[in-house]
Amino acid sequence: MFENLSGRLQQVVKTLRGQARLSEENISDAMREVRMALLEADVALPVVKEFIAQVKERAVGRDVLQSLTPGQAVIQVVHEELTRLMGEQNVGLNLAAVPPAIILMAGLQGSGKTTTSAKLARLLKEQKKKVLLASADVYRPAAIEQLKTLAKSLDVDCFDSNATQKPQDIAANVLDFAKRHFYDVVIFDTAGRLGIDEAMMGEIQQLHALLNPVETLFVVDAMQGQDAVNTARAFGETLPLTGVILTKLDGDARGGAALSVRHITGKPIKFVGVSEKVDGLEVFHPERMASRVLGMGDVLSLIEQAQKNVDMAEAQKVADKLKSGKSFDLEDFKSQMLQMRKMGGMGALMDKMPAQLAGMAGQINSETGDKAMRRMEGIINAMTAEERRKPEIIKATRKRRIAAGAGVQVQEVNRLLNQFEEIQKMMKMFSKGGMSKMMRAMQG
Ligand code: GDP
Repeated sequence: MFENLSGRLQQVVKTLRGQARLSEENISDAMREVRMALLEADVALPVVKEFIAQVKERAVGRDVLQSLTPGQAVIQVVHEELTRLMGEQNVGLNLAAVPPAIILMAGLQGSGKTTTSAKLARLLKEQKKKVLLASADVYRPAAIEQLKTLAKSLDVDCFDSNATQKPQDIAANVLDFAKRHFYDVVIFDTAGRLGIDEAMMGEIQQLHALLNPVETLFVVDAMQGQDAVNTARAFGETLPLTGVILTKLDGDARGGAALSVRHITGKPIKFVGVSEKVDGLEVFHPERMASRVLGMGDVLSLIEQAQKNVDMAEAQKVADKLKSGKSFDLEDFKSQMLQMRKMGGMGALMDKMPAQLAGMAGQINSETGDKAMRRMEGIINAMTAEERRKPEIIKATRKRRIAAGAGVQVQEVNRLLNQFEEIQKMMKMFSKGGMSKMMRAMQG
């Protein structure tokens, strides 16, 4: 996520951190770098200007310059200002309404409205809400079908609208249906256009008046950078938006939209889309995002993700095994890989790790990483139970057999065994000295 921006800011962080003393000149140099990084990430100019001015003002203050670790203090200021820029704190969904609470989804065509409606439905269903999806996108007939299909896959109800109806009629029918069937929440998807046009704005205004939604969310593609922000502003002038959802943050979005949209529109980013799949929606936390951008990782989200997806009993089994002095074997290795996959794969994890750790994990890029992981599982599957428990018995003949079984070259089996040995060493250290010792070993 935001690789360029992140890389450049991390460089600044590194330089600052290494300096025992800071002068106004040092800080100015660093700020010039930050400014360039932000502009290249397509952050809106007024936002950049204000941000730099704020950081500078605070950074040349006495507290920072006289602190024992001035570099660290400046980084802290940058982190705080980035957080503030993105809205300080997460603003959750407001569903406080006489049921059904209506969520109106607005945005341009292709922004990810339909997908995001389904993602939201999934999230609310998890919170035990009775959810109804509905679409009034009568101009793109496939859109209604797309929503119905998504709803079915999630086992969420979808209102049976069709492309011959008028959006206003659909809205009235949905409202009536939702009341009669006691839905808690209705997520109402609307038609997008390629650009902003008056007819669309007029229509969505009418729908807004009819539905009286508690939430009017603007869905916008983060890859559009400043354009995304400008469209959001234009929508916000016509429609009382209550929040923004930024999609496609998993792509090569540069970060501009995420950093500017709050400041320019005054509306909070409530969620971000991080994959095409229905589980690819994350609650937006400005502070965690700032940490991620600065390469400090987002350990809190990582833990939450783990709590949700990891089989704790399985994890405990491995932990107990290590504590009792038994060594970590290939069976455990395989089970760890499976857990990792459940947490969204390598990409989702690396994104949230502190840069030092992610860097340590090496050249693994997320996509090839996931593929490599599946190949590794294939190799382990081709082993006998004894081989998995005692990998040291795997010599040349066995290696050839395993390679043939998994359909890979012998070198790949070797590589897996070497990697496994490294991990085993790390695990040993972990079981002896705990996390802190392992972290020290990694940094040294
Ligand atoms: P709509 O026209 O606004 O309803 O857009 P769709 O929901 O049909 O989405 C357009 C395209 O963007 C589809 O191919 C989606 O799979 C994709 N998409 C939506 N959200 C995300 C996201 O967060 N990440 C990625 N990678 N793709 C997304």
